[in-house]
Amino acid sequence: MMLTKDSNGYDEARLGFQRRDPHRPDAIFQVTSAAEVEAAVRYAIDHDLRIAVQAAGHGLTQGIDGGVLIATGSFNGVRVDADRKTAWIEAGATWRDVVDATAPDGLAPLSGSFPGVGAISYTLGGGLGLMARRYGYAADHVQRIEVVTMDGVRRNAEDDPDLFWALRGGGGNFGVVTGIEVDLFDVPTLYGGSLYFDFTEHPSVLDVWREWTRTVPEEVTSAIALVPMPDIPPVPAPLRGKYIAQVQLAILGDGGEDLIKPLRAIGRPALDTVGELPYAESGKIFTEPERPESYSSRNVLLSDLDPDALATLPKLAGPDAPSMCVIGIRHLGGALAQQVDNAVGHRDAAYSLTVLSPGNHDATGLQRAVLEPWSTFAVGRFLNFSFGPLTPAELREAYEPDAWSRLTELRTRYDADRRLVANHQL
Ligand SMILES: Cc1cc2nc3c(=O)[nH]c(=O)nc-3n(C[C@H](O)[C@H](O)[C@H](O)COP(=O)(O)OP(=O)(O)OC[C@H]3O[C@@H](n4cnc5c(N)ncnc54)[C@H](O)[C@@H]3O)c2cc1C
Repeated sequence: MMLTKDSNGYDEARLGFQRRDPHRPDAIFQVTSAAEVEAAVRYAIDHDLRIAVQAAGHGLTQGIDGGVLIATGSFNGVRVDADRKTAWIEAGATWRDVVDATAPDGLAPLSGSFPGVGAISYTLGGGLGLMARRYGYAADHVQRIEVVTMDGVRRNAEDDPDLFWALRGGGGNFGVVTGIEVDLFDVPTLYGGSLYFDFTEHPSVLDVWREWTRTVPEEVTSAIALVPMPDIPPVPAPLRGKYIAQVQLAILGDGGEDLIKPLRAIGRPALDTVGELPYAESGKIFTEPERPESYSSRNVLLSDLDPDALATLPKLAGPDAPSMCVIGIRHLGGALAQQVDNAVGHRDAAYSLTVLSPGNHDATGLQRAVLEPWSTFAVGRFLNFSFGPLTPAELREAYEPDAWSRLTELRTRYDADRRLVANHQL
């Protein structure tokens, strides 16, 4: 169905999760099939219009003015092949849709912290998930991709090694993906959840987590967030108004309880949600807000978590910061470091650090200041955690130099007119 600015439902169709600078297209195609995607792309070509794609809308950086928006939210089927341990995921399916389909067979995809995120957008950007240190990036486990390229042709990307390589990590720059087939893993349950420490009471938590990450096996994927919690009812009572260090844990196999003993030794958490968890409930590990909101962020990938730089975070981004900052640090390494023939960059990174600012204001200066002490440890950046427009030089830092050259050459080959407007435009 095509909607224009005068149509009922136009606003509902153009707005996704991220409310900062939403799309303002002339036409919205709410697609439900690959054929409808093809028709929408052909319409844009025939009328010489730009194209943006939106699934769940978490990754929007800058809305388009005019042009065509292909809204894939209702094109969200998932077909599981339990024998082959794969799932075919349609363009607009969220990880919640995928996990709901795979969990009855005791299988899990390489989904991330928030089930509401679009599975395809996440995977095109690499996809750093809850089991990342054990199995690698989501983009490392893609079997097939169907895509409508900017000549209006529907293709199997794996028939063209360049296109298949670029789509796995290079983002939505090469065509409108209609479906992907991904590997599934025998993971009915996890040992996971969060230890929420009052940072003022337990300032050692950052250093203890840092030291602990150096000792853990690949079965452990963990992260830490520093959050000045608002003193309002949606926040659980024990956390309200406190500066919280949330240690987020996803552990495969047995022995999780023993593995996290050094973290429990920090002291009594304000809230403890760690335990055996069905994979279908893995969204409870991070417990990220479900409500659409405005936010911006900057990310760096780090060679190490330097203790001196770590000590600056609560000062620069804590409750006394000029505006609210949420710090997120993820432990990388393990299977993420294995070389796979796709576009994902900087596999040598040991940690990912993101500073996120809720709200509509311009937080660029503050975010840059928070990341400045890390400049000597920065090896690149991860675009999935970069919510907001980046400069061309910053964008380039997401990839190895050779991969960058190949990606930009392929971008020209597949979309010479630069018709497709991705959230991070190569
Ligand atoms: C709360 C939260 C938690 C997150 N957790 C993780 C995490 O754990 N790991 C991780 O790696 N990332 C994570 N992300 C980032 C997320 O994976 C990206 O922002 C992703 O792009 C969001 O997908 P979406 O469908 O929701 O967004 P959308 O805004 O709908 O899509 C983002 C972009 O993807 C492209 N795109 C979308 N669909 C298609 C298509 N069919 N064909 C071609 N291009 C397309 C477009 O360029 C679009 O602008 C998180 C984001 C949020 C907000």
